[in-house]
Amino acid sequence: MTAPMELLDGLSFRASVDRMVDRALEALKIDPGTAEAIKSCASVLKVQFPVEIDGRIEVFTGWRAVHSTHRLPAKGGIRYAPDVGQGEVEALAALMTYKCAVVDVPFGGSKGALLIDPRRYTRDQLRRITRRFTAELARRGFLSPATNVPAPDMGTGEREMAWIADTYKHLFPEDVNHLACVTGKPVTLGGIRGRKEATGRGVQYALQEFFRHPAAVREAGLKGGLGDQRIVVQGLGNVGYHAAKFLSEEDGARIVAVIERDGAVVNEAGLDVEAVRRHLVEHGGVKGFAGATYVEDGASVLELECDILLPAAMEGAIHAGNAERIRARMIAEAANGPVTHEADEILRRRGVTILPDLYLNAGGVTVSYFEWIRNLSHIRFGRIDRRFDEMRGNHYAQALEELTGKAVPEWMRARMTRGADELDLVRSGLDDTMRTAFQDIRATLEANPKLGDYRTAAYVIAVRKIARAYIDVGVY
Ligand code: NAD
Repeated sequence: MTAPMELLDGLSFRASVDRMVDRALEALKIDPGTAEAIKSCASVLKVQFPVEIDGRIEVFTGWRAVHSTHRLPAKGGIRYAPDVGQGEVEALAALMTYKCAVVDVPFGGSKGALLIDPRRYTRDQLRRITRRFTAELARRGFLSPATNVPAPDMGTGEREMAWIADTYKHLFPEDVNHLACVTGKPVTLGGIRGRKEATGRGVQYALQEFFRHPAAVREAGLKGGLGDQRIVVQGLGNVGYHAAKFLSEEDGARIVAVIERDGAVVNEAGLDVEAVRRHLVEHGGVKGFAGATYVEDGASVLELECDILLPAAMEGAIHAGNAERIRARMIAEAANGPVTHEADEILRRRGVTILPDLYLNAGGVTVSYFEWIRNLSHIRFGRIDRRFDEMRGNHYAQALEELTGKAVPEWMRARMTRGADELDLVRSGLDDTMRTAFQDIRATLEANPKLGDYRTAAYVIAVRKIARAYIDVGVY
């Protein structure tokens, strides 16, 4: 097990996030007391628990940090990683607070982690470890539908969320809302359609919205529409894979390189994302993928000339050591904290546009919010009104035919009479959220150009909302 990666360019990840928030606090002239209340992490739980693995006892270490409770429940993923530490969990919990505020999701911020390399354990072992971790969190009040609701993150997915939900249900069977204790579950176990791909889909919707603003595109030094962009992606996991897939297959953008743990594959003509992903799943890396040039030093490919660099792997990928050499015109932060504070300063000075993590990857928590509501209402979205909408559409089509004396073409009738199902509604809600949030960030920046960049503008929006919550009710 490697040591926790606590320092990024000499600063802890936590301090790096705080420095970025400080810019917004200064711009808003928030008083020092309120600023401290906003920035401090409310509580952190560290647990150590034994699990029998292959006849031997192994002790695992995990954390759950709650950054803020100005809205409840506190929300944030659980990651499984071999180099995670408490500082990283606290930083990620803080990011969740700001992220939820930017996209108007009424949650506080939280994050959890387990120090483990999940690739070294069997499915059955991971199931037992996850169940025990869940019990530790629940027993200490760090897991419940009302107060603290995890979701997937690096190294975890639907499978782990299903184990968490099932463990909680067995511990608290009288809790009628037990399914809402965790989001990102499989659809068959109370999950919502569209959650798995939500973060990647949100990245796509955010970029689509960015390209609806010609002035923003011009200022970033980009040309044409989203379909004209050449994109480099780091990390083809849940977030990176879905974002790259949608951007290439639906918007026509070219994914010219994919960087993974074992190196990168580059093809100027554009990579077939689905094929790269299949290769990655089958072989555990991108090496040997046919139809592309393999580069062993993956990190060097971050410096490839491109329009958009999409880091979707881990924090600190762009740091003081490589920021001067980044040749992308725009960095779209699909991962959390992929640009260190120092790199951010360098990139700002160099005029590289950054769409910040607290906005760009908020699609996951947005759809988690929808899932939580679905679980509390105990009904699938669209179940009540879908047929009614179809019937109403039919009436409109008939009325149109009677008034014009012409038949409504079949394709038009099909569109008019289609009632929205759950996936339609989730996509509509996510698209609206990502559009509105970008418009807010852009308007904030236009109203106050001194803020200088999208990240500071996004933090200004978040801090303003959180400060309001503290000021309105006072400190309890
Ligand atoms: P994941 O584990 O599914 O994927 C991460 C991918 O990055 C993997 O394919 C892994 O092989 C690759 N990777 C790891 N280290 C690398 C390295 N050094 N160089 C290149 N590639 C590397 O994780 P994910 O859920 O896709 O999360 C990725 C990032 O997005 C994290 O920062 C996470 O916090 C953030 N995020 C995730 C979600 C979500 O819904 N899953 C939501 C918001 C933000």
